[in-house]
Amino acid sequence: MNISIVIPCHNEEKNIAEISNRFLKIFDKIDIDLYKIIFIDDGSTDNSWQEINLLSKKFKNKILGIRLSRNFGHQNAVMTGLKYCKSDLTLIIDADLQDPPELLEEMKNKLINEKANCVYGKRISRKDTFFKKITASIFYRVFNKLSYTKIPFDAGDFRLIDEKIVKNLLRLNEADPFIRGLVPWTGFKQIPIEYARDERRRGESSYNLKKMLNLTLDGMLSFSNFPLKISYYICIISLVILLLLVVYTLKSYFDGQTVQGWTSLIMTILFFNSILFFILAIFGEYLGRIFLEIKKRPNAIISEITED
Ligand code: UDP
Ligand code: MG
Repeated sequence: MNISIVIPCHNEEKNIAEISNRFLKIFDKIDIDLYKIIFIDDGSTDNSWQEINLLSKKFKNKILGIRLSRNFGHQNAVMTGLKYCKSDLTLIIDADLQDPPELLEEMKNKLINEKANCVYGKRISRKDTFFKKITASIFYRVFNKLSYTKIPFDAGDFRLIDEKIVKNLLRLNEADPFIRGLVPWTGFKQIPIEYARDERRRGESSYNLKKMLNLTLDGMLSFSNFPLKISYYICIISLVILLLLVVYTLKSYFDGQTVQGWTSLIMTILFFNSILFFILAIFGEYLGRIFLEIKKRPNAIISEITED
């Protein structure tokens, strides 16, 4: 049995050597072969690619580097890496050592003993900022309310998957892949393993607010049609308000009072205007995504691959 390690890197020059050393050390001890450690350099602007190159020369056949032609984003980088996993199992892990490589042995044992197809890391504690923790917690809860596919709380992309899941993930070819939703979507037996998530070892997080929001939106919109249905509810509410207004106006008319003030009128117009635009925005989001999807662009473009 063998295993690939997929590590997406965006400006991780200071973590690359350590993470590969830690993995190589693990494979000296455990009874499973390393197929390859696959680093995907997602358009780094530091020396990440040079680091990956050095390692791939030093550990020929065991370390593969793939350099993307620009920054395509974390999820696309992982999908590109998966295409090179010709192994029985695959571990997806961040480069910044927030997830402990040493957990691999336990994950592998769990997968084999319980005959599962995926073992995903479930964070029982995490050393992230308060903001990150609270937004993540809201996200998982809202996502599961809206989505047809349920995803486990507090699980990221740190997971060990077998070749069946990899094969099916690659078949999907989605434009904005949301891996932590797509893996549960494939079905099969998926079980958690609990762990404490560490602080980022070195360097800075590449997930700024914009990237986080984009990932959230990708997840929500590709797993739920609920936002499209909001328009129905808003429509019903506005119709009720309209009806009340009509009753009020008629009553004033028969009471002999003139309906005064166009302020309220303008306010009403504005109110409905904003609702319309809101609905239009939701439509735009979906339309934009359909547009991207039908173009069937590749997830990422590779500019270089280290030699074998
Ligand atoms: N990453 C990437 N492309 C990006 C952003 C991030 O490949 O555009 C990688 C990054 O190098 C790391 C992983 O994705 O290995 C998770 O990113 P990060 O640690 O910055 O996110 P956080 O842990 O803060 O959510
Ligand atoms: Mg991180």
